[in-house]
Amino acid sequence: MTHPPPQILEVAIPSPLRRRFDYLPPAGCDDPIAIGSRVQVPFAGQTLVGVVMACKPGSEVPAPQLKSAIAVLDRLPVLDSQLIELMAWASDYYQHPIGECISTALPNTLRKGLPVPTLEITCWRAASLADTQTLPARATRQQQLLQHLQQHGPASEHQLRQQGFSLRQLQQLHDRQLAERFTASPPVIREVTVQPGNIRLNDEQQAICDEFRQHPGGFATFLLEGITGSGKTEVYLQLIAHTLAQGRQALVLVPEIGLTPQTIERFRQRFDCPLAIFHSSLSDRQRLQHWQQARSGQARIIIGTRSALFTATTELGLIIVDEEHDLSYKQQDGLRYSARDMACMRAKLADVPVVLASATPTLESLHNAQTGKYRRWQLTRRAGDAAPPAIDIIDMRRQPLHDGIAEPALQSLQECLDKGEQALLFINRRGFAPSLICHDCGWIAQCPACDARFTVHQQAGQLRCHHCNTSQPIPRHCPECHSLSLIRTGVGTERIEQGLRSLFPDYPVFRIDRDTTARKGAMQAMLAQIHQQQAALLVGTQMLAKGHHFPNVTRVLIVDADQSLGGTDFRAIERFGQLITQVTGRAGRADKPGRALIQTHFPDHPQLARLVNRGYHSFALDLLAERRLLQLPPFSYQALVRLEDKDPQLATQTLQKLRQAVAGLPCLVIGPFPASLQRRAWYYRYQLLLQAGSRQQLKQAVATLINAADGIVRPHRQRWSVDIDPQDMS
Ligand code: ADP
Ligand code: ZN
Ligand code: ZN
Repeated sequence: MTHPPPQILEVAIPSPLRRRFDYLPPAGCDDPIAIGSRVQVPFAGQTLVGVVMACKPGSEVPAPQLKSAIAVLDRLPVLDSQLIELMAWASDYYQHPIGECISTALPNTLRKGLPVPTLEITCWRAASLADTQTLPARATRQQQLLQHLQQHGPASEHQLRQQGFSLRQLQQLHDRQLAERFTASPPVIREVTVQPGNIRLNDEQQAICDEFRQHPGGFATFLLEGITGSGKTEVYLQLIAHTLAQGRQALVLVPEIGLTPQTIERFRQRFDCPLAIFHSSLSDRQRLQHWQQARSGQARIIIGTRSALFTATTELGLIIVDEEHDLSYKQQDGLRYSARDMACMRAKLADVPVVLASATPTLESLHNAQTGKYRRWQLTRRAGDAAPPAIDIIDMRRQPLHDGIAEPALQSLQECLDKGEQALLFINRRGFAPSLICHDCGWIAQCPACDARFTVHQQAGQLRCHHCNTSQPIPRHCPECHSLSLIRTGVGTERIEQGLRSLFPDYPVFRIDRDTTARKGAMQAMLAQIHQQQAALLVGTQMLAKGHHFPNVTRVLIVDADQSLGGTDFRAIERFGQLITQVTGRAGRADKPGRALIQTHFPDHPQLARLVNRGYHSFALDLLAERRLLQLPPFSYQALVRLEDKDPQLATQTLQKLRQAVAGLPCLVIGPFPASLQRRAWYYRYQLLLQAGSRQQLKQAVATLINAADGIVRPHRQRWSVDIDPQDMS
């Protein structure tokens, strides 16, 4: 008898080492091992959980050194071949160790090596020789139950109970040996009932849906550019219905604060099928259950934030990325991936269409639409009867301010309240005031660990650092000169809330920020109250800008536009345009016309004027032309090397050496320069920016730098990372 050649497993192991490792199958294991299943392996004195990336006949590792895996944890792969391929692509594109990429793609519990739970459910069937005659005449329900099982075949206990049968009746049939209990995987139901919405698509929506239906299938990227309230979500629902009708699953990515119960409810109402929903407040167990439902094909629709992209599916047919411009799609640690970009890659590997949608698409996506890489869809009108808001700029110069609000704005708020409508005030700063200053000596309350001022949180009686979460009580007098004249300068949500309460004592004021919504359910409770109210004032941060539909809001006030105009990052102005457009888009979404007011000290700012007068699209094309001129992304490719050290000199020295390592390569290197927050949590933060004219050149430079880093970066005192396509340089 000939033995089959020994199988060698190529395993991805969560370690910073940038390679795969070879193992023999566990001793005594003769079963074939599926690619994509987890194995327990000995690694550097520990037992780790890795994923089998490939099986091969031989290894370059000499036989005596080759170790055996300890156990195979899965019979079915936890990552299918497409996901394996996707993560291998990510490892290469983001130049990140494969083991860490693979573990990013797994739910937490699977990462730890816990078993994939079974989905099996309790079912019932009639016993083979069961006869209703043997039941007493008065046991009519039991007779009906038995007949039901005989006529319709086995059914799940859950179904039977929904049909009005009780556990007791089932048990009685069981005791009489007329029915049998067994467990089975729930069936995959491909036919989904779609509830007809009571909405008639407008021409633009209809044209998009028609084009999608005529799409021959296969990979294609669509950029759906639709102004706020233009009915993008309605279009998603239609595209998904079409996908489901073909027996395929749909994956929908939403931004972190976009996944609201309102959103989920819209899906539930429309589709009568299990949804796999991934949001941050799921327990690990729930998450795994949803993951398992998606992988088994039972869940036909998968909705979630960034990491939902890695959910295994059986027959993916469509990916949608809602609010594709949202920064939460970019992971800011570990594998610094863009879920938007990886969604496109996944769609390509699965050969299915992907839809990127936004009222304010990124310049990257607009560029791709211009070059024909993406097909562009537009929704230029608001759905139903709603009209886009009129936008007014309020010149704040030389105006008296009442807790940050200028008089014309106050008047406008009053008008809105008089009509029984709601106004929303946006300021992207939590707390009462962004600084505490001594009026006598000029002392400023600073976080000891960061190069940042403390924010005053009046209600909590604390000074808090928004960068490292250090907090301390608000001092009564100045620690330098003991003066009692400590003043709070600038405004945050808390101050505006307080100001509004005294300016408009007859109306309810709601503050929505991370501080007021931290408690579970707090946000929901507040939203419910807001929906019940007539006239009311809403104050909040970014949280208010997305996902929520406030039918009664007709007025929006951007309290401090200058705050976002002054960023140092070259993307700051693009972000500004997106934020302003998204926030002002909250006004007048239903049948009442809306009005938005923007307070600024720079009313003549050319880009602000363009945004207000010509709209986001025109504003964005302008910026794109500028980027082309300056050869900034998307006309060049960037990587950001970040390095932190408690000693600023050592940080810059290390980066200097890294810079030398790539000298002579066709890649522009800028730096070392300090991050805009130069010190955070006691660490000094410095950066090196690499910019190249092609992906290939960038990749070569980054690979060279990473190779050299082994002998340059000091692993125990310095933290460092490489960010490909960096989005946030703060
Ligand atoms: P977006 O996602 O673009 O912000 P939504 O899909 O949430 O827009 O639509 C905004 C509102 O308009 C929702 O209340 C939605 O039910 C409604 N709507 C969408 N399409 C239509 C339509 N064709 N006719 C009437 N109302 C519509
Ligand atoms: Zn002082
Ligand atoms: Zn701090």
